[in-house]
Amino acid sequence: MNAPVDEKERFARLEEMGLTPLWRLRTRLQAAGEEGEAKGAHRESSAVAAPTDQALDTPLQKPATAAAASPAPARERPRVQPPRLSSSPVGRRPDHPPVSAPSAPSASASARTVDPERAARIATLDWEALEAEIRACTACPLHRTRTQAVPGVGNRQARWMFVGEGPGREEDRRGEPFVGPAGKLLDAMLFALGLDRTRVYIANAVKCRPPDNRTPTPEEIAACAPFLFRQIELVRPKVLVALGRPAALALLGEEIKIAQARGQIFRYGDIPVVVTYHPAYLLRNPADKAKAWEDLCRARALAEG
Ligand code: SF4
Repeated sequence: MNAPVDEKERFARLEEMGLTPLWRLRTRLQAAGEEGEAKGAHRESSAVAAPTDQALDTPLQKPATAAAASPAPARERPRVQPPRLSSSPVGRRPDHPPVSAPSAPSASASARTVDPERAARIATLDWEALEAEIRACTACPLHRTRTQAVPGVGNRQARWMFVGEGPGREEDRRGEPFVGPAGKLLDAMLFALGLDRTRVYIANAVKCRPPDNRTPTPEEIAACAPFLFRQIELVRPKVLVALGRPAALALLGEEIKIAQARGQIFRYGDIPVVVTYHPAYLLRNPADKAKAWEDLCRARALAEG
């Protein structure tokens, strides 16, 4: 159960996410009548603000509400079992066929790039050895241009694990994932869920910054995957949230389009995987923040299930 959070601050974070105009309770607004509706809306938007399982006012929010209250559609019903990962990342297939045909490079690149002995050895490391190995890693070309590797941050027994793409300039400088504007938005999303960085674990698909913040290649993602897989096995979260396509590729082993894969529950072993937009994308496309919120509500239902 998440600790109660200050409603004023939660409202401010939701406002930062661009969600507050949407969070008005339908039942109270309807009761308020036509004239009172505007007043009611104002009142509710300042009083509610928090993610809620109650009926909401806009069509966009209905799926989120349904997912948060009860993952109603049978095809999405979580079948959460205790995490049971093997040392090698097997079973990273979605419950349902991907809506777009996976392109070959991910799986083939993984098979080509990853040294099985290296992967097997990483799969035995404890946290300290794992982070030391990440910091010293030279397994892909990204080590040449990094300032430092960025292993991950957060609660090592978290129920939630967020996986991003890779460090940016500020992350590379500070050695922590998701700092800067995208990190601020992620913090706002966490806060809206009643979470913060002490309650989740955050890692990236690749631990070293790609030059000029370019998207990491499938080969780089594959080379770095054993680190991510070991982190997941050590954390054993109840839900994984893939933030963006590279993260989804790392977790699912295949290329997907976020816009088309949203709403499906994928699997990493026994752990459900929810895919959504990367906060950096949301900063460029604020209209999609409501969709990301739907996805997070779906993840919350899984994390608390
Ligand atoms: S990105 Fe990953 S695999 Fe590549 S050098 Fe850094 S830690 Fe090693």
